[in-house]
Amino acid sequence: MDITRDIHASGLKVTAARQRILELFHASPQQHLTAEDVYRLLWAEHKDFGMATVYRVLMQFVAVEILVRNQFENSPARFELNTGKHHDHMICTRCGRVEEFVDPDIERRQHAVAQRSGFALVEHTLSLYGQCRHCGSERTTPA
Ligand SMILES: [Zn+2]
Ligand SMILES: [Zn+2]
Repeated sequence: MDITRDIHASGLKVTAARQRILELFHASPQQHLTAEDVYRLLWAEHKDFGMATVYRVLMQFVAVEILVRNQFENSPARFELNTGKHHDHMICTRCGRVEEFVDPDIERRQHAVAQRSGFALVEHTLSLYGQCRHCGSERTTPA
């Protein structure tokens, strides 16, 4: 991965904020970050860009398709790298963890359903809400 080249190729100018924010997305184990997450991570390393700057850069990256913006229920938008590969999400309503999945059967069924209605499917988002294995196991642990 070449951050500088990626930004340049998108037509945006390479700035310190853009460079550092894109680096964060490549380095972060939690691939789905809110603007606030990004702001906090920058703040933790004493790179204080300000929330307005962070948000502006995120939206610029979405516009040039470097990032994808996901709007999950009851939570601020989550941004992730645009890998160009379709996937769906599971969202933990307790801790906010986001996990990705792809299920060929679900994908096929969605196309079949759309086709049956004469609906030309262009894209879809599928989000499952519930408790992740960490939060779910806490709940079911016997007292
Ligand atoms: Zn959880
Ligand atoms: Zn994702």
